[in-house]
Amino acid sequence: MGDKSFLSGPFFEERHRALAGKLDGWAAQNLAHVDHADVDAACRTLVAKLGSAGFLEHTAPGHDGGAIDVRTLALIRETLARHSGLADFAFAMQGLGAGPISLFGTLAQRQAWLPKTRAGKAIAAFALSEAASGSDVANITTAARRDGDGYIIDGEKCWISNGGIADLYIVFARTGEAPGARGLSAFIVAGDNPGLLVAERIEVIAPHPLARLTFRDCRVPADALIGKAGDGFKIAMATLDVFRTTVGAAALGFARRALEETLKRAATRQLFGAPLGDLQMVQGHIADMALEIDAAALLVYRAAWVKDQGAARVTREAAMAKLYATEAAQRVIDTAVQIHGGDGVRSGHPVEALYREIRALRIYEGASDVQKVVIARAVLSSVEQ
Ligand SMILES: Cc1cc2nc3c(=O)[nH]c(=O)nc-3n(C[C@H](O)[C@H](O)[C@H](O)COP(=O)(O)OP(=O)(O)OC[C@H]3O[C@@H](n4cnc5c(N)ncnc54)[C@H](O)[C@@H]3O)c2cc1C
Repeated sequence: MGDKSFLSGPFFEERHRALAGKLDGWAAQNLAHVDHADVDAACRTLVAKLGSAGFLEHTAPGHDGGAIDVRTLALIRETLARHSGLADFAFAMQGLGAGPISLFGTLAQRQAWLPKTRAGKAIAAFALSEAASGSDVANITTAARRDGDGYIIDGEKCWISNGGIADLYIVFARTGEAPGARGLSAFIVAGDNPGLLVAERIEVIAPHPLARLTFRDCRVPADALIGKAGDGFKIAMATLDVFRTTVGAAALGFARRALEETLKRAATRQLFGAPLGDLQMVQGHIADMALEIDAAALLVYRAAWVKDQGAARVTREAAMAKLYATEAAQRVIDTAVQIHGGDGVRSGHPVEALYREIRALRIYEGASDVQKVVIARAVLSSVEQ
């Protein structure tokens, strides 16, 4: 059981504490033995389980009104990540994939998709990145052209989580209203669209469903467009604005688990005739870990709280939360591996898995250096005003 004292802090309400307790109990019962042998099957099972347990309801409120509560999303991700990286992934993608519809979709789009994603009956994906345009989103070349009463999408997307197993893809494509970022639009593409092909499955150090996708003569109806033509960049950034904070929350969950494992190890491992935790140098590392975790929690829940108070954008706070929490978690987990000695790099050990899980979080949804640019821009512009 991790440290729960932060839940009594000012960012939370009683409903948050109740949910965190309920999910922690559910996760202990349901996520102790997630089988990673077939990640596609594991993700389908996790989405279905999270859906039937009701937790996916929080990923996309909005088909009947209501707003996304970022503190709830962050608490769920933190808790799931503490128990299972794959469960956190399955939850997060339901939110990120459904996010553009939840935030910008028409009533018909929301009614068509959100009940299914929230019930765990449709798996969602968010297809923004391309091989040549990860950080450089404005450089997207996948194009959608008008054709009769619809659009035809052609191009390629890379690094698409849930690629190959998703029922719903949000695809960002160039429609050319203006150069660069202002000429992009967001489309709903069903997973069984014959113009959508899985070109390659991508293996990564913490395996989860990931693919390169090609779109060839991929025909979608006009009502597949989310918002207006040319709104795609705004939709992508507003969605990431909500979910970026929750990447920090997932990192926080990984870091908390690393500290829990380290505390167990420090108490049980005997060295030089005493528990490992009696060594002052080890105590110093434990203090650093606890400090970084608390600092990350404050930044993550500050960003979530600001958004939940109704801020239109939360770019600076979300960038700070994501940057600090992911970088701090990497340091905390590295220390945990070190304190575990050889067992820390033994395949299948929880801290070995955390060491692999944390790495990609410093890259996706805006790499750490990109977050620094975002923070610096916000800070500089606040001085100029
Ligand atoms: C496991 C995983 C899952 C992913 N899932 C998805 C998904 O579901 N949907 C999706 O659309 N994409 C997804 N991505 C893609 C991800 O968002 C991109 O990898 C990310 O945006 C970085 O793009 P890139 O890989 O092209 O790296 P690049 O853009 O080439 O960047 C490489 C490095 O260059 C540096 N850099 C870049 N820009 C700047 C800057 N402005 N200033 C200073 N330094 C900079 C940073 O160090 C950065 O890490 C996923 C990626 C991974 C690894």
